[in-house]
Amino acid sequence: MLGTDTQALTTPYCLPAADVLARLDVASDTGLTAQEVERRVRRYGPNVVPVQRGAGVLRMLAAQFHNPLIYVLLAAGVITLAFGDLVEAGVIAGVVVLNAVIGFVQESRARQALEALARMVPAETVVVRDGVTSRVPASALVPGDVVVLTAGDRVPADLRLIEVRTFEVDESVLTGESVPVVKAAGVLPADTGVADRVNMAHAGTVVSRGSARAVVVATGTGTELGAIQRMVADTAPVATPLTRKLAVFARRLSVVIVGVAVVTFVVALLRGMPVADAFTAVVALAVGAIPEGLPAAVSIVLAIGVVRMARRKAVVRHLPAVETLGGTTVICTDKTGTLTQNRMTVTTVWPADGAGRMECLVAGVLCNDATLRRGDDGWTADGDPTETALVTAAVSAGLDPGELHERFPRTDVLPFDPARRLMATTHRTPNGGCVGYLKGAVEEILARCADVDAEAVLARQAELAARGLRVLAFARFHPSGAVASQVDSPHATFIGLQAMHDPPREQAVCAVAACRAAGITVKMITGDHADTARAIAEATGLVDSTADATVVTGAELAGLDRLDDAADADVFARVSPEQKLDLVRVLQARGHVVAMTGDGVNDAPALRRADIGIAMGAGGTDAARGAADMVLLDDDFATIEAAVEEGRGVFDNLRRFIAWTVPTNIGEGMVILAAVLFGATLPIVPVQILWINMTTAVFLGLTMAFEPKAAGIMTRAPRPPERPLLTRTLVRQIMLVSAVLVVAAFLAFHWEISAGGTVEQARTTAVNVFVCVQIAYLFSCRALDRTLFGARLGRNRLLWVGIGVTLVLQLAITYVPVMNTLFGTAPTGPLAWLWAVAAAAVAFVVVEADKLLWRRRSTVH
Ligand code: ATP
Repeated sequence: MLGTDTQALTTPYCLPAADVLARLDVASDTGLTAQEVERRVRRYGPNVVPVQRGAGVLRMLAAQFHNPLIYVLLAAGVITLAFGDLVEAGVIAGVVVLNAVIGFVQESRARQALEALARMVPAETVVVRDGVTSRVPASALVPGDVVVLTAGDRVPADLRLIEVRTFEVDESVLTGESVPVVKAAGVLPADTGVADRVNMAHAGTVVSRGSARAVVVATGTGTELGAIQRMVADTAPVATPLTRKLAVFARRLSVVIVGVAVVTFVVALLRGMPVADAFTAVVALAVGAIPEGLPAAVSIVLAIGVVRMARRKAVVRHLPAVETLGGTTVICTDKTGTLTQNRMTVTTVWPADGAGRMECLVAGVLCNDATLRRGDDGWTADGDPTETALVTAAVSAGLDPGELHERFPRTDVLPFDPARRLMATTHRTPNGGCVGYLKGAVEEILARCADVDAEAVLARQAELAARGLRVLAFARFHPSGAVASQVDSPHATFIGLQAMHDPPREQAVCAVAACRAAGITVKMITGDHADTARAIAEATGLVDSTADATVVTGAELAGLDRLDDAADADVFARVSPEQKLDLVRVLQARGHVVAMTGDGVNDAPALRRADIGIAMGAGGTDAARGAADMVLLDDDFATIEAAVEEGRGVFDNLRRFIAWTVPTNIGEGMVILAAVLFGATLPIVPVQILWINMTTAVFLGLTMAFEPKAAGIMTRAPRPPERPLLTRTLVRQIMLVSAVLVVAAFLAFHWEISAGGTVEQARTTAVNVFVCVQIAYLFSCRALDRTLFGARLGRNRLLWVGIGVTLVLQLAITYVPVMNTLFGTAPTGPLAWLWAVAAAAVAFVVVEADKLLWRRRSTVH
């Protein structure tokens, strides 16, 4: 009885498979009963490994302080504290803590979102229960369940193998060894280490070849993977090329700030400024020049991108993908299921001379791995659409597939393998004899047939394929020994062709057009025949007409010395997974950002290598999903296009935020520097600078994260991969706004003093100048590369809310007495506000005029 005999569960590898099954109280062919499964679920719980994250949280929190800019801020805090300015030191400490909290919350939310999205991608497994084979969620497995694994599956629990067919498993997640391990079902000595237990398949590893039947011996935390996860807390960093670039930027900036601060300090002392004032100036400079809101804003923009993509059925598995997607220049997509609906219908059956139409249909039923189900209105089949179509064709012709399988029981099988492009089965016949059937790509089957008019068959295939049909060939052979050893000897008899129709997805047609308009090249890479591929390429608008489509086949690629010349083709047919990888390499070497789809186990290397590896959520294998950056829940090409569009939106919003935030920092730094150089009173002091930076970053800057995508986002060319984040135009804009800020702040400050105002009133005016210019510039940043009036912008309600809150806060810091005390401000008159509004208007006009001039000039030249 289960549980009384623990050896089956702890050391199943040193027992024969039959003993393990007996001790787990289960039969290999029928599996557990529904009641028994229920009992065991209650006893063992679900098959899930909870993510451990204790140490990870602390490390993530600590990482928020690990930033050179924060060090500079902390140093500034210590200096102010040393001079006894408690309020200012408190504000600086507050800013540092607030930053850490925002960063931490954002990062954990981004992680949770990614984890939740990962759960949306179905993890299913094939299980035998009550004698019926079906798919269940992997989490529903219990010890004793009998499961069936095929190439591409992720192993759902720890399993003892019962029978194997050339079964190889990639165990790199457990052992780090990337060469697949060949498995066998025999018995092993008790002291065999985990890596050598070849009669076991461990949870989390991936089947790279063949198939197997196995029994579950451990689930959830009881598995080897569970044991490892308990030891290692999840600490994968959430970093993107952009955040890495920003980290470098932060390091450089802090060096510059410290350098300028030292010079300022020396100049201040030379000018006879008291030491305490010189320190205040240095602190003001440091806190002013540091863009405190930047790291938090970047993670917020990316996280919002992830959510927007998920809404459009694209699950991003790594945060960098959001950003990279926007820069995609080439999409290499497969055909079946992505561009087409993967709803196959047999439209033509063409029997060979001498063979009957019926035999061709019978071969389609017997040499077939679809699961049959008898419903009220006859037989239906579940499984690969190519195979179910063959069953449906036979049923329509009056055949009974259930009866056929009973009369001709299967004795052996070589499952379909996309590299071989064929499948073979052997069967017992009612009169005690045996027969074998082959089905697969026409060339592959013809190569194994004797006495056939190959030219006539190929001509017929060309005719069917030109109509976009997928053509399969069938042959009969006499089995002698195992199928695998026999399949390559050419003694089969050709029995006919079946051609099936798979309609293009309607949305794919629009999406391909949208990609082409967006300057993105779409290439089709398929395992199907060149003519079928060509016809579908035309039907989906990937090429304008079949006449000018460049189609290259895998065989042609193999004959080339350099793949480089062929990489311009639109369609690649009968391509092997290795050739996919080579194509990615060639395209990348030409400077392209490549998105590549894949669904098979052999596609994993190409998916990893591509800038964006895309796997299918519904039709693909676990292996492909594990290697991909993005999973399409609906397998639809249109989803790729949608994700690229969102990616472009995210990139725009990042640029908007950075372009908007930098002038304030430069402006503040320059105001302080100029004041010290000219020996003037500081127009703004550190607490005020921190106030400006924090309130505007949160209430103004972050609204950019919600900026809708610009109308023409998919009609402009992709961003060249080498182009920097801040283009020359943007740098010029930033300089202009910085200059307006410095001049306006100084003028307003001195006007207030000369009009009889106090220093506090003058500083308040300068603060209001800064904030109002930022509000005006925010509008210009909505349309970075064109004038605001020429741009067709969507609505951003949050922008107005943000501006409203910011204005209320400015009124508060100007007129509320407590705020006056805290921030060294004082109530000002209406004329002071006029200064702020005028400065804002000037900034707006200057930037918009610059955009206009620049656009004029760039269109003239
Ligand atoms: P893609 O999805 O990459 O656009 P595909 O689905 O047509 O292409 P594969 O599934 O690799 O590519 O199939 C390649 C060829 O193998 C097909 O053109 C067909 O001739 C043959 N084939 C496909 N499915 C089966 C099957 N179940 N049994 C036998 N042969 C098959």
